[in-house]
Amino acid sequence: MTERKLRVTGRLGLHARAAANLVRIANQFRSEIKLRRLDTPLSRAEAADAKSILSILNLAASCGTDLLLTADGVDEEQAINEITVLFVRQFDEGDPIPVERHASTSPEFRVKGLGVSDGVAIGRVLRVQGSTSDLYRASIDEQDIEHERRRFRAAVRASRTQLESIKTRAERELGRGHAYIFDAHLLFLDDAKLTRDVEDYIVKEHANAEWAARVVGDRLLSIYTQISDEYLRERGSDIEDVIQRLLANLTGQERTYPSLSEDAVIVAQDILPSTIAELDLKYVKAIATDAGGWTSHMSIIARGIGLTAVVGLRDFYHRTRTGEKIIVDARRGEVILHPLPETIDHYQFSMNTVAPSLTLEEPVASGPVITKDGVSIVLRANVELPTEFEAVRRFGASGIGLFRSEFLLSRPGLMLSEEEQYLAYRRLIEAAGDDGAVVRLLDVGGEIGRDLSERLERNPALGLRAVRFDLRHPEVMRTQVRAILRAATAGPLSVVLPMVADVADVRQAKSVIEHELSSMRANGIPVSPVRVGAMIEVPSAVLTSEKIAREVDFFELGTNDLVQYTLAVDRGNHEVSDWFRTLHPAVLYEIDRTLTSARQAGIPVIVCGEMASTPAYAVVLIGMGSVDLSMTPALIPRLRSVLSQIDAASAHTIARKCLACATADEVEEIVRVEFRSKWPDVFPPKSLPA
Ligand code: PEP
Ligand code: MG
Repeated sequence: MTERKLRVTGRLGLHARAAANLVRIANQFRSEIKLRRLDTPLSRAEAADAKSILSILNLAASCGTDLLLTADGVDEEQAINEITVLFVRQFDEGDPIPVERHASTSPEFRVKGLGVSDGVAIGRVLRVQGSTSDLYRASIDEQDIEHERRRFRAAVRASRTQLESIKTRAERELGRGHAYIFDAHLLFLDDAKLTRDVEDYIVKEHANAEWAARVVGDRLLSIYTQISDEYLRERGSDIEDVIQRLLANLTGQERTYPSLSEDAVIVAQDILPSTIAELDLKYVKAIATDAGGWTSHMSIIARGIGLTAVVGLRDFYHRTRTGEKIIVDARRGEVILHPLPETIDHYQFSMNTVAPSLTLEEPVASGPVITKDGVSIVLRANVELPTEFEAVRRFGASGIGLFRSEFLLSRPGLMLSEEEQYLAYRRLIEAAGDDGAVVRLLDVGGEIGRDLSERLERNPALGLRAVRFDLRHPEVMRTQVRAILRAATAGPLSVVLPMVADVADVRQAKSVIEHELSSMRANGIPVSPVRVGAMIEVPSAVLTSEKIAREVDFFELGTNDLVQYTLAVDRGNHEVSDWFRTLHPAVLYEIDRTLTSARQAGIPVIVCGEMASTPAYAVVLIGMGSVDLSMTPALIPRLRSVLSQIDAASAHTIARKCLACATADEVEEIVRVEFRSKWPDVFPPKSLPA
């Protein structure tokens, strides 16, 4: 074996272009050639394979780094000599491209938005383009694994052809200095660290090629983002670039995908809830989006999983670049790009001194909460993702009041099998305990799962959404109903129909459920009947609620959509968020009417929109006669404490006054004045409508 000490002297270090030249020379020799950093203890220093570009890049060798080069084999001497010459010639880089170091020189920049969850996070920007970046995980049968590997190899070949032609064009139009980088991209594609690992993952995990490529890509990227040299670290975007090209070729679509590093702060114009559901939350520290409001699903999920998020930042996305330092302060509803060192110090200090309020580990109270005048209020959990199941007990919820089942679908166009759904509902029942769980039939279309409805609709919120989608796709609905009826044998499970417009929707949906129940029974499949409820969340359902109440076992009041459809205000559009007024008298009349219809028919009502979890609004609901509220589990302890300190009789008097108002401003003024005088210790000014 021959070895030699070498120092990296190129100004940009051993970055992608330089590494590409090194790999090309190393590959001309038969010897095994390795490079190791000399500033790391031998036991921890991983030797990089000089024939693998990804391996070389992981050395993170910036200018001035000392390395030990070793070669072992028939031509070791010659290999060492030629590589030494390459180091001396500073990797034959030609005209260096100017180094841009925006991040360190840009001034601190603050933008106000809406904090929709708790917490503060310091990390680095990861831009996620477009609103439809979805990846999915599919289980591949043994006999299809070879096909999946061939698909991946075909994507590698297609990527190579594309890159070769891009490189030729870049050489012609931009000069060799710029075209070099595509040599590096081509080497990534040939690197066994990437291709072999992806294929191994497909085989071992029975995963689809897209998923395998993303997982392997994320792993490579997360190593890369730990590099301390800023310039080298930012070159991680080259790996990201190649992974995205592979993914685009695999899916046959021009798409971009999130690639996550250790301290990623996702910055996007808009982000689909299914994308959040898909993100590897181990790596995501926070989310900052241009679009969105308090009740958009992205925000609801962020609260549910305790992810720091600020939305409604308007044109923030365009000001950022991947890799830039960022602070997301959801408590103040602010993001800070390029924070100054003193700003970071300040935040680090406050993060260490303020305990996160939503993730307390101490045991909390459970069961109904009793108001001071003895009214018992049930507090249930809304859950979207299986990761939230354990929070149901942790935060003392009385079962699951709403399971938004569409979040089980992680891939556009992909429906879960009956068996997969059955297992998910079994877990749901287990998480809910004796108080039971309510599964909402798929509420796709509109904001969620746009991709499932094959065409883009002109107006998705008014389109083929929720129960309309279910009725239009009977095979999808039947699969879900069958899974629910089978799971219901294991414990109390109910079904709620999303966004019914009237009795006709209810009757049609119920007939599907009844038909499945009897045909499964006839075939000897163990099933159990379920209670069927209706979501009341569009004005026509409110106006016919007396009739709907006679056909169902319970109501769920979806106040998020009720406000949206009553006031004609898009719940996800920050431009109109000033018009999204939960305490609008029109909304209050509708709630009052729905509660009255249910009372007369003798059925219960669960209020499950975000209104239920906002203390001041919840007290108005109690005043109108609500006794069953469902919300993000982490918000239950706070509401429990508030409700235990108020009395329902006073709430009732205040609610009557609110119902007599003409405008949202008038209602809010009453709430401010009355709450402050009745319960000054319970409602500090910050907790009341502004
Ligand atoms: C609602 O509309 O209030 C509701 C609970 O459902 P979602 O937020 O999922 O539309
Ligand atoms: Mg709704």
